[in-house]
Amino acid sequence: MRILVVEDERSLCDALATILKQNKYIVDVCYDGIAGEDNAMSGIYDVIVLDIMLPGKNGLEVLKSLRQAGVSTPVLLLTAKSEVEDKISGLDLGADDYLTKPFVTGELLARIRAMTRRKGEYTGDSIVVGETALDKNTMELSHKGRSVRLGLKEFQLLETMMANSAQIVPKERLIEKIWGYESEAEYNAIEVYVSFIRKKLMAINSDIQIKAVRGVGYCLESST
Ligand code: CA
Repeated sequence: MRILVVEDERSLCDALATILKQNKYIVDVCYDGIAGEDNAMSGIYDVIVLDIMLPGKNGLEVLKSLRQAGVSTPVLLLTAKSEVEDKISGLDLGADDYLTKPFVTGELLARIRAMTRRKGEYTGDSIVVGETALDKNTMELSHKGRSVRLGLKEFQLLETMMANSAQIVPKERLIEKIWGYESEAEYNAIEVYVSFIRKKLMAINSDIQIKAVRGVGYCLESST
């Protein structure tokens, strides 16, 4: 895993680099937005830790350029307590997470681990998370030789979660995506479908699990 840290407070930047290296990451550092953007554009990083207040070009501008250029590397924004607005714009611009300074090292490492956990990727006609695959043609869910067919709604729900497997997918988004805006009372329906999917995941002894995040939505956890 290769991480780019863009932070102009050199002591903080160097301390982060040291900690990350101790945790077996390969680390590059930049102390301003312009160099940071240049490096980030290479697309070689697994995560970019990006401060917002930077000389040259601020973190939000860098993030915007990256996303416009099609660089989809996960970005963890570093914000000061006072920069709530920036935090919101950052998420709108496509940041994957943010951390408010000052933070403890453990928190940074946990966020980075969550961001680098393998995201669902399409290989041919299947989306794969961990060792569980979902075939979009046959709607078959499989894990190590066992498989089970999903219903259409089950398929759509699970596919959405697998495509966003490092994140919590809000219930509202799932409902909008699968049932559209007009429907009512689907909050219960979604829970019913999730329970069906869970049973099927268990039936194939899958290495992924659907976790409910109370009041927010669902996320997938892979045990491999
Ligand atoms: Ca700064």
